[in-house]
Amino acid sequence: MTERTYYILTFGCQMNKLDSELAAGQLEMAGYSLAESAESADLVLLNTCSVRAKAQVKATSLLCNFTRDVAGKSGRRIVGIMGCVAQQMQEKLTEAPYLAEFVLGSRAVSRLAEVLERLAAGERGILALEEDCASWDYEAETVSRLNKRSAYVAISRGCSNFCTYCIVPYVRGPIQHRRPESIVDEVRSLTDSGYIDICLLGQNVNAYDYDGCSFVNLLERVASIGGIRRLRFITTHPKDLCIDTVRMMVNPPFAPYISLPLQSGSDRILGLMNRGYTRGQYMEKVSWLKEYLPGAFISTDIMVGFPGETEADFEDTLEIVRKAQFDNIYSFVYSTRPRTKAASLMSDVPDEVIKARFKRLLALQRQNHIDRLKRFVGETVEVLIDGVSKKDKGAPCGRTPQHVIVNLPHDKCDVGELVEVTITGAGIRTLLGKVTKRIL
Ligand code: SF4
Repeated sequence: MTERTYYILTFGCQMNKLDSELAAGQLEMAGYSLAESAESADLVLLNTCSVRAKAQVKATSLLCNFTRDVAGKSGRRIVGIMGCVAQQMQEKLTEAPYLAEFVLGSRAVSRLAEVLERLAAGERGILALEEDCASWDYEAETVSRLNKRSAYVAISRGCSNFCTYCIVPYVRGPIQHRRPESIVDEVRSLTDSGYIDICLLGQNVNAYDYDGCSFVNLLERVASIGGIRRLRFITTHPKDLCIDTVRMMVNPPFAPYISLPLQSGSDRILGLMNRGYTRGQYMEKVSWLKEYLPGAFISTDIMVGFPGETEADFEDTLEIVRKAQFDNIYSFVYSTRPRTKAASLMSDVPDEVIKARFKRLLALQRQNHIDRLKRFVGETVEVLIDGVSKKDKGAPCGRTPQHVIVNLPHDKCDVGELVEVTITGAGIRTLLGKVTKRIL
């Protein structure tokens, strides 16, 4: 039998990255091996994101490119789609002009094995949108991980918050929590295999609650597993962050890093967004972090141009940015998503006003980033190598415990290596360094 190969193109959040590893696990169990590129693969799977309209357009046009090119692979290539766009567009994706041979819903990744059997039997245009069991879980051995030191471990999936701009509750469903024993077993098996960087994943991790086991209880259990060097979790919802979590993060193995999406600094806009906190409550949580974790990096997400955002609302956001002194900001422009509550609001902020506000936010965050990263120059930090630099292809890069990217243009390192680095320079988002010692 000729060996069949696969390639998965992943877009979007960390949950999608983990879902791709789960899909890869099933493909490998079915006898597929990883191809060098999508172009050379017998089966191409697009794992998509629909959080913004642009991401959706990109995913669907890529799908068309691959399905049109079937002839180029002598009709042998199978093209499938999974993730949020798959869940959102469903059977439309099997029709022209998309012509996906299978569509795997965002809660149906575990059904890929069944889909592969149906494909082998000659079926095409397969829809597998619903999960095949009521409770959600997965076994550690069904994940095929590319990185041998850093691992994502899902603790929940879906979201029940219904922020008015967000499509996630519609495409990923309500929040479902994974059994704590299953999470602990997976982390233990990972650390036994040499993993040192564990990131607990969920659309809203700190809403975790399984039969009375809270997020703090779960953290306690995971943190007590030996061998973890960096324990992180994303995404944290500001309304659910409690002081006990912050106090727990003071001690190892917690990495000094947290992502706390602000979205807007205006109480009026936060109310329209249904975020569940005020600017005052948000800043109280920031003050806990600054008090208990003075060296930790705080990252945030900010949205510009939510329907009805006035100059005063935007000024409120800038004020929080100045006060909180975030170490990293992911800023983006509001994008109308179907089925969301905000889609029915009038997008009355003119494009040029949104662009100008976005520019002002970028200028402010640029200065913040530079100031925060300059502090590292001359220091020695521990860097976990996780890939190659985007700018300087071939040069290794990795992350500090604060999750800051360090590029190492003068060194040779393998992914997963832990090295000691002297920081020689700082950019807007990345550091430059030189390896001084190999740790692991
Ligand atoms: S918390 Fe809000 S923004 Fe985050 S996934 Fe849930 S609905 Fe979307």
